This record gives sequence, C-alpha cells and structure tokens, in this order.
Amino acid sequence: MAEENKKYYPTIGLEIHAELNTNTKMFCGCKNDPDEEKPNVNICPVCMAHPGSLPVANKKAIENVIKVGLALDGNIADFSEFDRKNYFYPDIPKGYQISQYKYPIVSGGKLLGFDITRIHLEEDTANNKHVGESSLIDFNRSGVPLMELVTEPVIHSALDASKFARELQLVLRYLEVSEANMEKGEMRVEANISISPEPDKLGTKVEVKNLNSFRSVERAIKFEIDRMTELYESGKSNEIVQETRGWDESKQQTFSQRKKEGSADYRYFPEPDLPKMKLHEAFDLEQMKKDLPELPAQKRARHKKDFEIKDEDIEVYVNDPALSSWFEEVAKILNDTEATKLASNYITSDYVGLKKTNGDVKLPKPDNFAELIKMAKDGHISSRATKDILGRIVINEESPRKIAEENNLLQKNDEGALKPIIQKIISENSEVVASYKGGKENAIMSLVGKAVKESNGSANPQVVIKLLKEMLK
Ligand code: ZN
Ligand code: MN
Repeated sequence: MAEENKKYYPTIGLEIHAELNTNTKMFCGCKNDPDEEKPNVNICPVCMAHPGSLPVANKKAIENVIKVGLALDGNIADFSEFDRKNYFYPDIPKGYQISQYKYPIVSGGKLLGFDITRIHLEEDTANNKHVGESSLIDFNRSGVPLMELVTEPVIHSALDASKFARELQLVLRYLEVSEANMEKGEMRVEANISISPEPDKLGTKVEVKNLNSFRSVERAIKFEIDRMTELYESGKSNEIVQETRGWDESKQQTFSQRKKEGSADYRYFPEPDLPKMKLHEAFDLEQMKKDLPELPAQKRARHKKDFEIKDEDIEVYVNDPALSSWFEEVAKILNDTEATKLASNYITSDYVGLKKTNGDVKLPKPDNFAELIKMAKDGHISSRATKDILGRIVINEESPRKIAEENNLLQKNDEGALKPIIQKIISENSEVVASYKGGKENAIMSLVGKAVKESNGSANPQVVIKLLKEMLK
C-alpha cells in the first residue's frame, strides 16, 4: 500500500460542493426541490438564463453558509461579493456561473483539525442527460444554492480524506442546511492529490472528480497515490501532469479527462447585477453563533463525559440523532452509569442488529427499555432472556417484567431457595469438588453449569458462584 510507503508523501486537498436545502433557488423564486422528478418544472427566465432577466440573492442561502462558517470556526467576511466565472457548457447557458472569487463569505476554519481555506456560495448548474444520440437538459437544478468548501492541502491519507467528508456531512445535517446525500448528488467531493519524495515539498497535483460515495473518495485517492507512486518508481514522474481525472466506479480506477484550466481561464469579474454585501451589518453574527445547535464534536464530548460509553457506541448515536435522543431518555430514567453502559451495549449491538434484519422493529418506550435493563443489571433475568424480551418489545410494546413473569424467565436470586440445589450438586459431584479444592479453580464453572441446569435455567449464575464459593470453603 502506497500510504504505508514512506518513500513518497501524499498530500490531499478537498473541494466539496453541497446543495443547500432552501425553499427557493439562489437567484430567483423558483422552488428548490431535489426530489422533483418531472424535468423543467421549477424554472423561470432567471434560471433559464433568458436575456435581460436579473438575479436577486437568496438571503437564507447566505445565512446558511454563515452558519457553516461559524460552526467550523471560520472568519465571516465583512465585505463579500459575487463574481462571474466564465466558461461554456450546455448546462450553464448564461456562459458563466455566478460564484465567488476574491471575497468568499467564509475564510479559514477547521474541521477534525484540518485547515479550511474558504467556504463560498454559488449556483448549481442544470442537469445534462445523455439519451442515445441526444443530450437532454433539465433546468430544475439550475440555480440551486451550492456551497463550496475548499480545504488547505493538509490531508495525508485517503482515510482521513473520507473521514473529513463524512464529518462535514454530519455538520451540514446537524445545522439542517443540507441533506448532503452523496448518492443523490447533494454533496459532491473532488480531491486534489499529489505525492512527493520530500515531505515539505508538493508534487504535481491531479484533481479527481465524480466521487459520489465516501467509499469512492477513499478508493480513488488510494488509486491515485498508487498510480503516481508507480510512475515515480519507474522513473516516469514527468508523466504526472496537472489534469482533471474522473473515477470509473465499475473499473475502480481513475482516467484522464482534460488538462486542468487555471483560474485565469475563467476571467472572473464581479457580478454587476447583484449588490455588494456587508455581512456584519446584515446579520447578527453573535446571536447566530449562540443559536448554533449542538455539533457532532460537542455531542461526542458530552456522551463521553455523561455516559462513559465506548467510542464505537458514541459514533452510532452521533450518526443517528433519533436513536441518540431516545438513548438519552433511557439514560435519564436509569440515572446510573453502569446501567447506562449496559443499556448502550444492548442498543448498539442487539437493537441495531434486530433493526437491520427486520423492518418492523421500532424503538420501544424508554420506560419499558429501562425496566428491561434494570432487570438485567440486577440479575433478575439472564442475558439470553434480556435479548429475547428485547426482541419482543421492539415489535409489540409490552412490559418486560410481565413477559419475564409469564414466561418463567425470572432468575432465582433467593439464596435460601438456591442452597438446597447447590448442596445436591456438591454431593453428587465429589470428584469435581475435590479437584476444585485441590487448586483447580476453573472446576467450579462445571458445578455452576450443573446447578443452573438443575434449576431449569432459572438460577442466577452470579449468585450460584457466590454460594458455591462460600459452601466449598
Ligand atoms: Zn428560476
Ligand atoms: Mn464550484
């Protein structure tokens, strides 16, 4: 693997576009509806680029980008403006995209410790569809607000790059500014990748596009690092050229698309049809900062501190807000660290497992689940019985205690009732008892098994062990 190959140092920068979930488009009043399936219904002269039509900026979209900037500790520009990025393509009939160049809304910031260069706002293009000999264009997407986040070239592995993209998706979802669904094209990742034999020097970079899953982000970057490493190894590093490459999902490889254009080719200039923006006047940034919701990193820290649960468990909750708030209610009812940890084990392994295999599985009432966990923790039911009862209450809401009583699942913890059983096992198994007394401590487990069996499975093994140890002293 090239990533472990210390001969070459990979450097990665990301450019991530995300469609903002505003009600209307960026520069017109057309509906912004990513789920609209009928082509060319959410359109008007502005987003169709009819001559003489004039754009009006969507304040909500600007506010959403500011929110992202505040959440990632970036600087919100006082002065900001839109620019025309000139290029020709059928999906952009104006001949330019309204974007931002010198004065992005956000500069700087950090996510997972990686430096962010900027976050700006632009408009999405129309959608090209190629059907047989013809190309069709759907303008529903034309003019949808598009946020673009650019990182510094500070990422050094394919895994970190995909982690960054995943974390950004979470942040956008927590802020409720974008669904950021990669499969639906609501979030698109491009990676700039280079490798170099020297750690503090950057090599020639290539840009890989068409990455529409986190897996392809990781695989495409790995592929590029390997491809460039091989070129270096075979003395052909001059064949690495600055270019745009695509990712072929079926072949799992990148391919050359075009030699990269520089920013001069776009002939950027300020958009004359839109006013300049004084963001510190137009928005109450302090209030906006205060109003930010809890972010994924804050949630992780809080779960660790309040519940002392495993990192893997925390990740399950961070990625599933509904499950998370339900778990928090359970924890509140239990109000006990050990019980909460036990609850979390049953949720992240057993509940999540049941949910995967059966679509009818629903979260039970927090009260009922907490009751189940208390019974398990106090040794009233075995872990087998806990799982069985859980399997029932996620389909039909019932009292776990009632199920346990009706099905004879309650374990005997009553020492008085268990002693005669244990006495019987001791007298029937003198050889095992002798070897235990002779120092073979593990021998006791076979006595525990026999006692539990003698009780028809109702004896609490923990209590049996305790009694056996006392009685064999
Ligand atoms: Zn429109
Ligand atoms: Mn862009």
